[in-house]
Amino acid sequence: MSDERRQSHSPPLSPPRAGGELSANLTSIRDTFSSRHHSLDFAYSLAQFLRNRVLAVSLIFVLLSPLWALVDMAMLPRDLLSTTLTGRAVLFVGLIGVLMFARYSREKIGRIRLSASLLLILPAAFYAMVLLSLPPGDAERLAGYAFIPFLLVAALSIFPLTIVESLAAGIVMLWLLIFAQTVDGSWLTPAGLEGLWLLTSLLVISLTANHFQLSLLMQVYRQATHDPLTGLFNRGALKLHMDKLQAWRREEHSGGQLPDCAVLMLDIDHFKRINDSHGHSVGDTVLTEFAQVLVSQTRAEDCVARYGGEEFVVLLVNADIRRAHDVAERIRQAVEQHHFFNHDDQRVPVTTSVGVARIGDDENAEEALERADAALYGAKEAGRNRVMGDASLPPSSLR
Ligand code: GH3
Ligand code: MG
Ligand code: MG
Repeated sequence: MSDERRQSHSPPLSPPRAGGELSANLTSIRDTFSSRHHSLDFAYSLAQFLRNRVLAVSLIFVLLSPLWALVDMAMLPRDLLSTTLTGRAVLFVGLIGVLMFARYSREKIGRIRLSASLLLILPAAFYAMVLLSLPPGDAERLAGYAFIPFLLVAALSIFPLTIVESLAAGIVMLWLLIFAQTVDGSWLTPAGLEGLWLLTSLLVISLTANHFQLSLLMQVYRQATHDPLTGLFNRGALKLHMDKLQAWRREEHSGGQLPDCAVLMLDIDHFKRINDSHGHSVGDTVLTEFAQVLVSQTRAEDCVARYGGEEFVVLLVNADIRRAHDVAERIRQAVEQHHFFNHDDQRVPVTTSVGVARIGDDENAEEALERADAALYGAKEAGRNRVMGDASLPPSSLR
């Protein structure tokens, strides 16, 4: 992010290339291919999006099921009807189960993914079951069943699935189509090959739709949750993350002792003077490098966010108040020792004040932020470039 910003200050070396949009979209294939590189927070946002789609599609399937049963009654001979109607009843109940399962899985990524898989597997299993229970040579008497694999492959494009996930589902549907063709005798006939070709083409279109849908979501997610200057989480994303952290603490350790967590609130000292003396662009560089110092001094599971202007927040996971003070002091020293430069390559001295607070077991994480902010105010009052703790804690708790 900082590189992009620096580039904007120097004249471009070459004019922008026409057609760059396509290659920019293709470079994000790593992110849309599999979920390996997705952050936990993105996976969570994606799961909420997926859940909405699962609810909508399962509701549509539930509503269509009885209508299709009427078509069956009109089209199928009596001897086939009882099998298909039983299958339909099971499918109907299963789809309602998926709808309920997704409805009550708001916070659970794994359960939401499972409900999406079930939504695709249930109609496919119903079709396979009907095919298996047919007397030999009766397959052509089924009306409207042959399009199930095509319908499900087209439905893949509605969900924000990764290419690997859609491909796996597509292979299952191809297998289902081949199985149906061996039952109805069209396997390796011109009509059968036409069906296979159509399903493969639909799958390629769905995979393309998945890719563009997922990369768009990722772009929107990044813009909504990250600060463009420093690349850190913004304030809104921090608040969401804090709520999730509190939910995780309570859930993972219900009954036992909750893992210690703490919050640091940092504010660069006399930052306005830096802007006024060296210009806004140097101020921006200081903010960017300050963010890098914070990231380098914390672990991957800690969360670093830009809270506003020159204020930052660090959320420390599995850290008691004493460790939080140590980390805060280490950051303070690292900032003081870091070499920040202005446009004339002269050093710009930068210091920071830090307020520290423990996140209570039952409290709203925002209350801890307010206490850290009050401690930060105390550090500013006491002369800046220092770490201050939560005034409500006895000093002995830090020793
Ligand atoms: P204190 O030690 O009390 O915190 O003093 P301060 O000067 O750091 O605090 P003050 O709130 O007076 O000034 C903060 C300044 O930060 C004012 C604002 O123009 C500047 N600022 C906020 N966001 C940005 C930004 O994105 N880039 C730059 N360059 N400056 C910013
Ligand atoms: Mg300041
Ligand atoms: Mg400030």
